[in-house]
Amino acid sequence: MGGFFGAVSKQNVAWDVFFGTDYHSHLGTYVGGMAVYDEEAGFDRSIHRITSTQFRTALEGAASRMNGHIGIGCIADNDPQPLLVYSRLGSYAITTVGRINNSKELVDRAIADGHAQFLERSRFVGINETELVASLVNEKETIEEGIRHAQEMIDGSLSLLIATSEGIYAARDLVGRTPVVIGIKDDACCASFESHAYLNLGYRTLKELGPAEVVFITADGIEPKLAPLPKKRTCAFMWTYYGYPTANYEGVNVEASRNRCGAMLAENDKDKNYHIDYVGGIPDSGTAAAIGYANASGVPFARPFIKYTPTWPRSFMPQNQSMRNQVAHMKLIPIDELIRDKSLLLVDDSIVRGTQMGETVDFLYESGAREVHVRPACPPVMYGCKYLNFSRSTSDMDLIARRCIVELEGGVPSEERLAVYTDSTTPEHKAMVELIREKLKFTSLEYPSVEMVSKSVQVPEDEICTYCWTGRE
Ligand code: SF4
Repeated sequence: MGGFFGAVSKQNVAWDVFFGTDYHSHLGTYVGGMAVYDEEAGFDRSIHRITSTQFRTALEGAASRMNGHIGIGCIADNDPQPLLVYSRLGSYAITTVGRINNSKELVDRAIADGHAQFLERSRFVGINETELVASLVNEKETIEEGIRHAQEMIDGSLSLLIATSEGIYAARDLVGRTPVVIGIKDDACCASFESHAYLNLGYRTLKELGPAEVVFITADGIEPKLAPLPKKRTCAFMWTYYGYPTANYEGVNVEASRNRCGAMLAENDKDKNYHIDYVGGIPDSGTAAAIGYANASGVPFARPFIKYTPTWPRSFMPQNQSMRNQVAHMKLIPIDELIRDKSLLLVDDSIVRGTQMGETVDFLYESGAREVHVRPACPPVMYGCKYLNFSRSTSDMDLIARRCIVELEGGVPSEERLAVYTDSTTPEHKAMVELIREKLKFTSLEYPSVEMVSKSVQVPEDEICTYCWTGRE
């Protein structure tokens, strides 16, 4: 996934960029970087791997050294960033968030034109995709025209920051899948993916950019460059899973939306005669929905297992799946008194492959739980995300919902048949949920509908992206 932060100030901006970027650390685990522009020395840039260390530890030395009035920083899950570019549009630093599905075609096209080459190599594809974006931007006469051109050429999603010697261009993707928020204080203005990132730096929110909107930021404020477009598809998973609890998207807080989702799940259960001893959340993103469930239902909230945070402070993501499962398991320590002979209801952000939830539930039974009821905070995930570099994206056939559909249909279903399963009112959908429950050995399993998610995030259904649950673009 990834996130970014940039600021322009009448003072040295390096520490604002350092702390503002650090507040995006939950969005990526691969590299962190900063670039600060000094009028005499030009751009000073530093990029470090953050797979086994924190952004703050990795970039502290660079932030101490850097001095300038304009700077951007990023946390990235794919390519090293920010990149420094020398082009006909001048020198600039660029950082991007999103996903490019047609990078091969775009690279082939650029090379066939005879005026492009790509130096950087990413770990996922042959070239650094941020460099590809820069090459698309440079095809036009101005930076804002270039940004729009790049967004239109790309199949996927692209939000970005471009820092020049004069200020920062901030652009939100064409349908507002990911956020860009502008903050302001007396002598500075910033652009941030996360709305909480600038509050402790003294900025207040000026505005959230609309879909496709491009602005130019100086220390005095923002200058509009390209107006927002009407179509909006904000990623609903931002509220459910990616977002930090303190963040707001479309003005709606993540923690509060998760509380509401939990309360709706409780409302759905109110006529069922389960005897539940405790409601618990899978840390961290399931916790707020569990609190919402507990408060609405009157069943006490408890933490039957707790994440061992002192040595697992960040998301360590080994490449190997079995080691990832082992790490997920190692992080959670059970509390016997809250598990043995108890009937537990667990809320998690989602069920994707089902592996981790299945193992957690096995582990609770082994620890003496009598019953384990499960309530995911979003509908069954049926399609891998094609818009964002969502680290939990996987091949569609890895998704437990898809595997159950194949089993129920006796083979890979047509798109039409698949659509029947995405509708939570159909008998097919209910049969799929029952098969997931049976396979993962839950006592009961109830998902929220897309309508409930839309209500909990307080954004109309046609303004949020629900592709991974419905397959609807
Ligand atoms: S497909 Fe899912 S994860 Fe991807 S942008 Fe849409 S809602 Fe978000």
